[in-house]
Amino acid sequence: MESSLYIHIPYCASKCIYCDFFSGGAKYADWSLLSNQLLSELSARYHELSSDISTIYLGGGTPSLIPADVLYTFISGLRSILGDALRNNAEFTIEVNPEDVITGLIDVWSEIGVNRVSVGIQSFDDNLLSLIGRKHSGQRALEALDAISRRFQNVSGDIIFGLPNQSFSQFKDDVELLIKSGVSHISCYSLMVEPGTALHQLIRQRKIAPVDEGLSEKMYQYLIERLHKAGFEHYEISNFARPGFRSRHNTGYWKGRQYLGIGPAAHSYDGLRTRRSNPWNLKGYLKHDFSTASFYEEEYLTDIELQEEMIMLSLRTKEGLDLDNFERRFGAFNKERVLKSAQKDLDGGKLILTDNRLQLSESGILTADNTISNLF
Ligand code: SF4
Repeated sequence: MESSLYIHIPYCASKCIYCDFFSGGAKYADWSLLSNQLLSELSARYHELSSDISTIYLGGGTPSLIPADVLYTFISGLRSILGDALRNNAEFTIEVNPEDVITGLIDVWSEIGVNRVSVGIQSFDDNLLSLIGRKHSGQRALEALDAISRRFQNVSGDIIFGLPNQSFSQFKDDVELLIKSGVSHISCYSLMVEPGTALHQLIRQRKIAPVDEGLSEKMYQYLIERLHKAGFEHYEISNFARPGFRSRHNTGYWKGRQYLGIGPAAHSYDGLRTRRSNPWNLKGYLKHDFSTASFYEEEYLTDIELQEEMIMLSLRTKEGLDLDNFERRFGAFNKERVLKSAQKDLDGGKLILTDNRLQLSESGILTADNTISNLF
């Protein structure tokens, strides 16, 4: 059984106004202590992974802030713990922010075995970048993509649509610039206004106008058509890849494979029915003794939760929900129940049923959240 390792780096240079990921201020970071604690957690928990680890993902937060010496020590410790269980050809992704990208660091990432770089761009428009609290400019993002693409073939660019004050033509420009940069993969998410974020507060105080849903939908539709013309495969609701460049790590999540997440706020799943979540507690994480007690909280998914998760994750992907597989896991009765719930959207053209696979149609993708929730 294939498995994946996720490492959460809980520091950022500053907080973007829309972000609800767990991260603290990097100026207070003790990088060596963090690295030691991550390795201690991995030593205590690596047995939760199968002996076939096919992907590593260094995410956050902002992993590109990790100093080179700490990164060398951390990755060498990680490799010695995982040993032969880590595939030679494992996909190894690092998330980076454009303002951190310098030639010396690109060399370091390459030397430690990184073979996929995911760049958080969000937009190339300087006014929008400044409004949402990003630290780079559009020009810096282009330079970073250029420098990274000279070293790595597998480069992903992240952008967002539906940003406050974002016009349709600004979004079109972002898409064009990203295509021209030569990236092999694009993740493009619709902005979600999450409670507890600065953006949520600013909208409540009427200092920023809420995003126009009609405009967001128009941007998403444009994105799908434009990237299709540019040769990208739309393989998941928010993800597009040139042939051969799908994210193997994220594909593991969508297929319900086993993964271990280490670091504060990281999640793990055993591929069966156990979820483990590390609390959002950086101070607690940094002083925890992993050799004597676990840090995570554990949850067992019910049959209904497992079914809903499989429906939701599968339908997000191009391949859709394999109903034979669903029936093998949950029985004929539950498969029939799903088909009954799907009937209205099958008749309305939002879902398609071919070869016993349920998939979102082109119009179903535009209203994916509603279409999928109709099945529960
Ligand atoms: S850099 Fe990324 S993780 Fe950090 S605050 Fe911004 S969006 Fe969140």
